[in-house]
Amino acid sequence: MSTDRDRVVVVGAGVSGLAIARELAPDHDVLVLDKGGVAADTSSRASGMISLSLEPFPDGWAEFALEEFRALDGQGVFSFTEEETVRLVPESESERYTDDAPDGGEFLARDELEARYPDSFGDLSAYGGGLVYDGTGYLDALDYAMTLKWAAETAGAGVFRDHEVTDLRVEDGQVTGVETEYGPIDADHVVYATGWKTRDLLAEYVELPVRPLRWNALVVEPDEPLPPDCPLGSEPTMRVYWRPTRRGDVLIGGNEHLLADPEGTEMAVDEAFHDMVMEEIAPLLNGVAEGTVRREDCCPTADCASPDGLPIIDAPEEAPDGLALVTGLHGRGVMLSPVTGRAVRSLVTGEDAPFPTGEFELDRFDDRSADFEYRSHWN
Ligand SMILES: Cc1cc2nc3c(=O)[nH]c(=O)nc-3n(C[C@H](O)[C@H](O)[C@H](O)COP(=O)(O)OP(=O)(O)OC[C@H]3O[C@@H](n4cnc5c(N)ncnc54)[C@H](O)[C@@H]3O)c2cc1C
Repeated sequence: MSTDRDRVVVVGAGVSGLAIARELAPDHDVLVLDKGGVAADTSSRASGMISLSLEPFPDGWAEFALEEFRALDGQGVFSFTEEETVRLVPESESERYTDDAPDGGEFLARDELEARYPDSFGDLSAYGGGLVYDGTGYLDALDYAMTLKWAAETAGAGVFRDHEVTDLRVEDGQVTGVETEYGPIDADHVVYATGWKTRDLLAEYVELPVRPLRWNALVVEPDEPLPPDCPLGSEPTMRVYWRPTRRGDVLIGGNEHLLADPEGTEMAVDEAFHDMVMEEIAPLLNGVAEGTVRREDCCPTADCASPDGLPIIDAPEEAPDGLALVTGLHGRGVMLSPVTGRAVRSLVTGEDAPFPTGEFELDRFDDRSADFEYRSHWN
């Protein structure tokens, strides 16, 4: 069926590509193409931490994303569980926060934490207390991706796996479509949401300062399920985060590190990280040290780092007209996906987004090389 609506090809069916498709499908002809499966790359391995209020993001991103997660809760197979997050504060640092908690956080001493979340914590004797944040929660990343796909398809989008995009088609500086392994497809707009691979895929048109980034996570079943209101948490000195699951297990993640060659690196959780989690983090949570590791997650290839830790969501000036791209999600691609979807809608339609978008622009970087130091959000 041909219509007079603009045709958009979205390359990549991770959470970014699917969120974009959901935003554009109601008034565009949208086709999402992925060379593998739907959300089968990094997106399916995400821990599902939605901790926007702890991140160094501009006002407006968290508010918009949270409203979208709440609105989607209960649709398709998706559920969004809102719980507070506790960032543990070592005994030696707690004095600093007693009267002066950072923005959005409330300092609770150790005994107050234990009273507020009975049966959640284990041995907190090394900690003076914790900073408590609200506006946080968790989701299952694969259920979320499948629900985005369902919502996009319901609005008319086509989502196809096993369709590798081999090239961008451009005439007179204007995008005209893509080449795929099965032949050309015409489009008025093409959006690349291909993670760290975007740098290589678009190298002919634009230089992108992004690098592959890997994370690890374990799911541990405690000897007794954690209580339903167990908070999310993090331990900043070891750079580890955790969240409960809906069945009372705990997902513990961290070990973020840049990778030189993701496809040539074994896809496995680092043994030292596994041991550190079980020896140092598990005892902080009730019954987890005696628990059983049920799952180990690692990016199949990699997530994608940017030099300043913020995403690049742009239609760069030097690129052909009609090309937009999303990359450099820096370990925050799931929690930011509603913002990503709406920001790309704004690039394609010219509508204003209801949050700041200047931070996404590629021209904030003078140096576009991929040879940058990693900037962790823990710093
Ligand atoms: C262990 C772990 C824990 C994480 N925890 C969290 C978390 O708690 N919260 C959070 O917000 N984020 C988290 N992240 C980060 C998050 O998973 C990523 O930022 C996010 O999934 C990126 O999504 P994406 O759609 O941009 O990229 P991807 O999921 O990588 O999708 C890109 C897609 O592009 C496709 N593609 C590539 N090249 C082509 C081509 N030529 N043609 C067609 N298709 C192509 C790939 O097959 C892939 O499906 C975590 C990541 C990991 C690994």
